[in-house]
Amino acid sequence: MRSSRNQRGLTDAEIARCLGIWAVLDGPGYCPLDTSLASEHGSRTRYNEEQQTVYLGADVYPGAAVDARSRMSATACLAHECSHADRHVRGYGRPAVEPDSLLDEAEASLNASFYLPLSSLDREDLVADARDRLVDWLAHTRRRNPDES
Ligand SMILES: [Zn+2]
Repeated sequence: MRSSRNQRGLTDAEIARCLGIWAVLDGPGYCPLDTSLASEHGSRTRYNEEQQTVYLGADVYPGAAVDARSRMSATACLAHECSHADRHVRGYGRPAVEPDSLLDEAEASLNASFYLPLSSLDREDLVADARDRLVDWLAHTRRRNPDES
């Protein structure tokens, strides 16, 4: 998950908390959560399709910026990554390059917003993240086809 989120490597207690969140989200039912890089500065939380694994990174925790992607909680962030794994297991294609990767990111956040253990704030942040990525996708697409509107 890219954005201006936390960069500081996670403590053992933070990693343990994330494993707890992962269990509550039923993450282990989709794929493992690998914590081996989480204590490294600047490590990224991401789903790796080839290894069918979510890697826990420093950016699982929010940053100071106010956009949805930066402010969403560790729970919302892990729900987003779990959603990538969930969608991969169901055979959804995942465009790797922009702008269409933005649609995949939006759909992952929207799908994650339906997960039962989430608070209303986490749901709202995931829906707002999906909206922001759709707005970005539309802006890219309009730039590509300036005469069509
Ligand atoms: Zn994502």
